[in-house]
Amino acid sequence: MGGEELMNTGQKCEVSIIGAGPYGLSAAAYLQSAGVEVRVFGEPMSFWQKQMPVGMCLRSSWGASHIADPKQALTLDAYCRQNGNHVAKPIPLDRFVDYGCWFQRQAVPNLERRSVRCIDLADGGFKVSMEDGEEFLSRRVVLATGISTFTRRPTEFDGIPSALASHSSEHSDLRKFKGQRVVVIGAGQSALESAALFKESGIEVEVIGRQRNLNWVGLHPRLHHLGFVSSLLYSKRDVGPAGISRLVSMPHLFRLFPREFQERTAYRAIRPAGAGWLQPRLTGIPITLGHKVVSARASNSHLELKLDDGTERRVDHALLATGYRVDVSRYPFLSSTIVKELETVSGYPVLKRGLESSVPGLHFLGKPGAWSFGPLLGFVSGAEFASTELTRSIARNRFRN
Ligand SMILES: Cc1cc2nc3c(=O)[nH]c(=O)nc-3n(C[C@H](O)[C@H](O)[C@H](O)COP(=O)(O)OP(=O)(O)OC[C@H]3O[C@@H](n4cnc5c(N)ncnc54)[C@H](O)[C@@H]3O)c2cc1C
Repeated sequence: MGGEELMNTGQKCEVSIIGAGPYGLSAAAYLQSAGVEVRVFGEPMSFWQKQMPVGMCLRSSWGASHIADPKQALTLDAYCRQNGNHVAKPIPLDRFVDYGCWFQRQAVPNLERRSVRCIDLADGGFKVSMEDGEEFLSRRVVLATGISTFTRRPTEFDGIPSALASHSSEHSDLRKFKGQRVVVIGAGQSALESAALFKESGIEVEVIGRQRNLNWVGLHPRLHHLGFVSSLLYSKRDVGPAGISRLVSMPHLFRLFPREFQERTAYRAIRPAGAGWLQPRLTGIPITLGHKVVSARASNSHLELKLDDGTERRVDHALLATGYRVDVSRYPFLSSTIVKELETVSGYPVLKRGLESSVPGLHFLGKPGAWSFGPLLGFVSGAEFASTELTRSIARNRFRN
């Protein structure tokens, strides 16, 4: 069906939000409260529920883990009060998933738990095709689909079946590796926390990371309790170390700086690092730093690894906690016409005010917005900025048109 016909059948909507994680849910709450008609699609908190390990805790602090709503009424504190729940710190993953689902029921009860198959250009906006066959026209589309399509797998593991080497996002329960010898590749929070979870389940594990030293966050909690001085050093968004935390919490200011400065500062804010509370849980785990795997070979249901120091490992499995790299051409649902029209840098869409891309009416929330608006957009605490910015821009353009 073409755009014209879809319009004529009345199957059109003003804004479609694809994604029901922290960004999609927050954006829906803001837009609906501004009187904008939205349809919202996705499984609530599915990335957190299905692609992070059972037993994990959030690295972000309490104050940086609220999902933003325009009245600030749906905070973690409100969730605890209303449900009589106590949530520990650091925040356990299952409690955060439950909080997100509670937020969805309160703010976005109209969520449609369905998948989008394809988004293409059409007269007057976009043609959205659903997996179940429905097609409709949407004037604007907001992509809040997270990072799960952007997994990064080192090329040394090309051709190794996922039974022997898998990305960390492929698992929600690491206990299935019981009885195996595992190496974890990487040295950030995901790698270190997975290693701790392996050890605690009695699984033999070694961590191998390229960086020379482990980096930690949250080792000086007292710095956060110095009243006025702390507020000068740290933003409640809690992304990055003292000083940088303040700067990256103001994306409009941050993007005025020269690109090289932005890149250095962003790296400093989000470089691979573990939460300080993980340290005691890593005791006894062999951690090899400053080296990388140069070759991987499958042999009789085992994996043989060679490192750049000449040493070798023979293990049952390699867990690749090697992160994500945004690349808009990897979205499975964006038409090639849209991808061609998107202005990008290093795979990221270039966004202007309202987090709108070079394709008018197509907005990107979350991590894909980080090249244009800085590292804050990679974290739950960036959703308040993203939702406010998006809603202002859409509301403003509505009155103009
Ligand atoms: C292991 C790990 C730990 C992390 N810990 C933290 C932390 O402690 N604090 C923090 O701030 N950040 C953390 N992050 C970063 C985290 O990923 C982001 O903060 C957060 O997920 C961003 O939310 P989002 O809404 O952009 O995406 P997501 O939460 O990934 O939500 C994506 C949504 O899109 C939907 N979707 C995808 N494709 C489609 C489709 N075709 N049709 C319909 N719906 C679709 C999914 O169902 C889902 O609802 C962590 C990341 C990882 C990998």
